[in-house]
Amino acid sequence: MRIVAIANQKGGVGKTTTSLNLSACLAARGLRVLLIDLDPQANTTSGLGIAQEEGGSLYPCLVSDVNPTQVIRSTRLPNLSIIRSHQELAGCEVELAQTGHHLTRLRDVMKPLRYSGHFDYAIMDCPPSLGVLMTGALAAADELLVPIQCEYFGLEGLSKIVQIVQQIRESGANPALALEGIVMTMFDSRMNLSQQVVSDVRNYFSQVVYDTIIPRTIRLGEAPSFGKSIIEYEPNGRGAQAYLSLAEEFLRRHGDAR
Ligand code: ATP
Ligand code: MG
Repeated sequence: MRIVAIANQKGGVGKTTTSLNLSACLAARGLRVLLIDLDPQANTTSGLGIAQEEGGSLYPCLVSDVNPTQVIRSTRLPNLSIIRSHQELAGCEVELAQTGHHLTRLRDVMKPLRYSGHFDYAIMDCPPSLGVLMTGALAAADELLVPIQCEYFGLEGLSKIVQIVQQIRESGANPALALEGIVMTMFDSRMNLSQQVVSDVRNYFSQVVYDTIIPRTIRLGEAPSFGKSIIEYEPNGRGAQAYLSLAEEFLRRHGDAR
């Protein structure tokens, strides 16, 4: 199983939309995916129309010794399982921070899942902060996928996260962490600025940037309020096309095209 953290400390850039829809598209392609909602806001959980439940998140696994297999739930989508979030996860920021192992705790918790053989990919939706949950996810992950919004401040966030990756590697917690990709989100073709940001990011980060660009569409914004992934909500729309193409490219990068 490859563990992919979807992270950017900047808020509202499309982390949740990408985690949820990339996972749904990979599952639709037959890959066995475990989607992990690591954000106490629980947007991925509710965006899939799934109820939150105290004790149902990774919290009891992180602060006591509950086995993570006990909090995995199947979803209505074949091949897609989830570890839900609940606001209780916010408690980790304080409780884990007081322990000496806060950076490596999630990595240790993930071990039984990593070697279980049940999943091809675990996709972690990270919260928009530099706290224990996000840094723990970067320490636990094999790779990092960074969504950035096609707007001026998008680039600023990007240099910050590249710096964090470097720190995590150098801390010794996860020397092998790879910057797997950068995906440009909420692209608006009517805005010159969007075009400019895409070309700047491609100049700086060339190969790492996905060819697929996620457009800004009303449907992508609406789907979570119906508790649906975009391939359920509007399977033939531009949003679904974009995320299917992102999944395709992701699988090609991983030598996993089927
Ligand atoms: P946070 O940092 O709060 O966790 P996030 O990075 O997870 O935010 P999202 O929740 O995915 O970002 O997106 C922010 C808002 O923009 C949401 O309301 C979402 O529905 C909407 N949105 C995301 N991507 C698109 C898109 N391509 N087109 C239109 N709306 C979008
Ligand atoms: Mg989010």
